[in-house]
Amino acid sequence: MIEGIFPSRRANDEEGDTVVLEHRGIDGYGSGAYGASRGDRTHKGIDFKAPAGTAILSPVDGVVSKLGYPYSDDFSYRYVEVTTRSGRKHRLFYVDPIVQLGDKIAVGQPLGLAQHIAARYNEHLMNNHIHYEVMVGHDYINPALA
Ligand SMILES: [Zn+2]
Repeated sequence: MIEGIFPSRRANDEEGDTVVLEHRGIDGYGSGAYGASRGDRTHKGIDFKAPAGTAILSPVDGVVSKLGYPYSDDFSYRYVEVTTRSGRKHRLFYVDPIVQLGDKIAVGQPLGLAQHIAARYNEHLMNNHIHYEVMVGHDYINPALA
């Protein structure tokens, strides 16, 4: 579905070298593709494989506009939202922030470390991943096209 390299696919390995994140693909919990079926709704982002602890780099220039919680029943999981000058909100889920609210961010700057989201589900069935979504106003758009 996605060809080529764009910044959202970059991360740092243990040596600090920039690597390309792979699409999560299809695992025991379904497809990580944008628009994939989630029962009565659709997947509003793209999932990229990321071992827990992987440094996740910002896909855009912007400002940290929110450090949120994907789940209301478990505040250990976090997301980082970076808003660009044009107002697009880029959100990276299951990322433990290393930035502060209001920080100015340059593309490629580390935002945080990938968390062990597969542990919440079934780590043998789910590829550990981050979730990347982009909002324009109240609408979600395909991050690959953002
Ligand atoms: Zn996802």
